[in-house]
Amino acid sequence: MQTLRGPAGLQSVSQEASSLGVRCRMIAARSVVLCLGMHNSRKESRFSTEEQYMTAVASPIDRSAAAADALCAVGAEFHGRGWSLGTSSNYSVVTSRAPFQLLITASGLDKSGLTRSDFVMLDEQGQQIDAFDDGTNKPSAEAMLHIAAARRPGIGAVLHTHSAWATTLSDLYAAEGALLIEGYEMLKGLRGITTHEHSERLEIIENTQDIGTLAQTLTRRFEANDPALKYGFLLQKHGLYAWGRDLAEARRHIEIFEFLFEVIGRTLLLKGSKPR
Ligand SMILES: [Zn+2]
Repeated sequence: MQTLRGPAGLQSVSQEASSLGVRCRMIAARSVVLCLGMHNSRKESRFSTEEQYMTAVASPIDRSAAAADALCAVGAEFHGRGWSLGTSSNYSVVTSRAPFQLLITASGLDKSGLTRSDFVMLDEQGQQIDAFDDGTNKPSAEAMLHIAAARRPGIGAVLHTHSAWATTLSDLYAAEGALLIEGYEMLKGLRGITTHEHSERLEIIENTQDIGTLAQTLTRRFEANDPALKYGFLLQKHGLYAWGRDLAEARRHIEIFEFLFEVIGRTLLLKGSKPR
């Protein structure tokens, strides 16, 4: 794969990406809609998923640049909505299945102003396989959790957020081992759910700094097709992991869960003040 280095390389990538109609370099929330909308409108005619579109149409360098641009836009939006404050959160997209290649945010960056040089490319062992940046970026410590999920067929993007409501509820319901979400119309935003008469059990996993062991546990559970890992999970006092077939779906799943977390949290707060 061609290495992206220096202004000339970026200009070349920009020209190639523009030829595909991918112009998502702006880091404003509005660009998420623009970028994902472009991908969606292109894929609907010929491809069922963004991954299929990117694999079939774009060269490896195009796919990496387009994925980076889309993740930049996601970072700007999620930071603006309070889900990725400070240097928290990390986002990834599968840019190739064979060989497996995952583009993921580099460690320790403010997500409000990501650029194409703020990512690393990893293989399925978590090894950096290409200098997508200038060689100084390091993958997030949580990258192995992304890889554990993204190696599964049908998962093309993994997003991780640290919202106040996810952090609060993941602790409040830790003893139960899961947050039960039921009866809400917005549940229909999760893939495959067609009615509000649904009960979604989002598992809460104890937080740890031993990410390697947690990734191994998740890998075993994915290989056993554990149904609890259909959409994502909560890490206690930490945040939300959610995924989807492509970036658009993963982003929507985050948005749905974050909305439901806030509704559940606000409902709990208001219950005590409800007039009798
Ligand atoms: Zn985290």
